[in-house]
Amino acid sequence: RAKGSSIFGPCYFDPEQDDAVRERRELANDLRHAIDANQLDVHYQVQASVVTGEVTGYEALLRWQHPERGDVPPEIFIAIAEENGLILSLDEWVLRRACADATGWDHQTKVAVNVSPVQLAHAGLPQLFHQVMLDTGLPPRRLEIELTETAIMADRDRALHVLRQIKALGVGVALDDFGTGYSSLETLRAFPFDKIKIDRVFASELESSPEATAIVRAVLALGKSLSIPVLAEGIETDRQLEVLQREGCDEAQGFLLGYPASGPVSGQSPFGDAKPLPQQASAEQVA
Ligand code: C2E
Ligand code: MG
Ligand code: MG
Ligand code: MG
Repeated sequence: RAKGSSIFGPCYFDPEQDDAVRERRELANDLRHAIDANQLDVHYQVQASVVTGEVTGYEALLRWQHPERGDVPPEIFIAIAEENGLILSLDEWVLRRACADATGWDHQTKVAVNVSPVQLAHAGLPQLFHQVMLDTGLPPRRLEIELTETAIMADRDRALHVLRQIKALGVGVALDDFGTGYSSLETLRAFPFDKIKIDRVFASELESSPEATAIVRAVLALGKSLSIPVLAEGIETDRQLEVLQREGCDEAQGFLLGYPASGPVSGQSPFGDAKPLPQQASAEQVA
């Protein structure tokens, strides 16, 4: 039973709970003005080949700088935006911004954009992607969307239909946070994924837990036999990267390779000469 409630129902006089509710309501209100008030920004986190160290792409991550509260974590404001439907505007804003930014990058470099469950359920999504590709001129093969099994679960048939349309445009589809959702194997069989992203909880235990290593190994084998490249999220140490190299992982993402950072000056190479090769990563981390 939640704190502040009793068998007679919720207690409306719990001041702590009251504060939390009020804070959420305030944040929801403030978020409505965040786009127009220029408080949103997109940061990019590098994704690189574990084998060659080459940059393959950047994941776009939304940031909200609240005028009084400072940086609000995405986990908090994304959840609020998903509840009140504002996520549709936010995700469209990120999509347009990320695609426009990526046109100024190296022509081999992809940009990955997160798609929320709410957005996936929205009828106009394939048309939106098509329109943004036209508006920005980004070749569709340089765009990848990331979605979780939770997003797919709500209505699997619909999700499959929408994803096929998006793939038909030439846009890639990655399965995000793999290993933490439901019915993983069936989802992998039925859906046309171009990439599997292993959730960062597994990376964080690669050094300490033989079980985590065994699970990563199994996912890599699964990826190999289904011909789907696998990316490991949340790589923070050289040792974790070594394990991934040894086990034959395709790509990695995490603080070791680079923190999410604000975007490039338009027309220039995104991150200058500081190509975040795994070998250079410790130097990067200090910066
Ligand atoms: P995600 O898509 O799984 O993104 C990866 C998250 O892991 C990011 O958190 C990133 O900063 C963090 N991360 C990356 N490397 C490391 C590492 O080595 N160690 C640790 N501890 N963390 C690492 P962030 O930016 O706070 O975003 C959290 C989540 O919010 C994202 O998880 C995604 O689900 C959601 N999100 C972010 N931006 C957007 C967006 O534009 N639209 C939607 N719908 N969701 C978004
Ligand atoms: Mg993601
Ligand atoms: Mg993830
Ligand atoms: Mg996540």
